[in-house]
Amino acid sequence: MTTQTAETAETMTPRERVLAALRREPVDRTPLVNPTSVATVELMDLVDAPFPDANREPELMARLAATGHTELGFDSIMPVFSIIQESSAIGCKIQWEQKDNWPTVKMSEPIYERPEDIRVADDWIEHPDTQCVLEAIRILRREYPDVAIIGKTMGPWSLGYHTFGVERFLLLSLDDEAATKQVLETLKRLTIEFGVAQAEAGADAVTLPDHATGDLVSGEYYKRYLQELHAEFAEAIPIPIILHICGRTVDRMGFIADTGMAAFHYDSKNEPAESMAAVGGKIALVGNVNNPQTLYAQGAEEVKAEVRRNLEAGVQMVGPECAIPLQTPIESLLAIREAVLEHHGLS
Ligand SMILES: [Zn+2]
Repeated sequence: MTTQTAETAETMTPRERVLAALRREPVDRTPLVNPTSVATVELMDLVDAPFPDANREPELMARLAATGHTELGFDSIMPVFSIIQESSAIGCKIQWEQKDNWPTVKMSEPIYERPEDIRVADDWIEHPDTQCVLEAIRILRREYPDVAIIGKTMGPWSLGYHTFGVERFLLLSLDDEAATKQVLETLKRLTIEFGVAQAEAGADAVTLPDHATGDLVSGEYYKRYLQELHAEFAEAIPIPIILHICGRTVDRMGFIADTGMAAFHYDSKNEPAESMAAVGGKIALVGNVNNPQTLYAQGAEEVKAEVRRNLEAGVQMVGPECAIPLQTPIESLLAIREAVLEHHGLS
């Protein structure tokens, strides 16, 4: 898929390119980065690595993830398709679903009611669903030494939703600030331990989704409950962190930029130029290409137009805004790469 011109003009490996962009340093061309899943049903069929098994067997997880690089041309490989691996490890009930659907936590059966209910075994990370991620990262590190391998560790706000249920956790955050902070302080251990383990397994960076999303939580909430914790993660996890929060988040981007994390994975509800202004050069941005409308339902031209808006605003890395729908057509995804190469005069 790479043209002759592109190969001769590119002077960095995909891994070098992504790591430089995460440090906001110069690159030979803007990297294509997927901090979240780009797996599709079509790709599962192509390499015979379907959900739900590709979420539970390391060989299949690695094989499906690698298609993001080999078939779609991303500079990164991200094997943690779901957001439930560590929640499964600590005892949440999981609906594993079939090939065409995401595994989810059964939020109707929360495992905790009060902060003092939280019990996490010392060896929680030995669970098969967390070990699967670590082994998939080791496989990918061996097989793709020149590609950026990105892991994922969930933040304590998201883990609060999974273990208490969304409604109960949000009510707690409204009613009882001290109890909410106690929950976050207790659960943060999972975020750090899983992130550190993935760094040791060979990941170059980790995505850290913490779903204090624009529609549920205000920027003020982010500052009160999460900013300090996120700064602590940037200290404790020894590889660059890409924070992921969906929705409209411009009101908290300034706080996020001050955490010391490397990058923020941002949603199409935010304009690229306003977002670059909001972070003031203190954190890199990645993402923004709309999933449900543009990548899933529209054509290559619309995809390219969104990518160009990011490139023109100086956004450091280009990719989808969030985990893409499993039925997204491959042609839409390939248009991301075409737009980047065209912008840099490489095609
Ligand atoms: Zn998201």
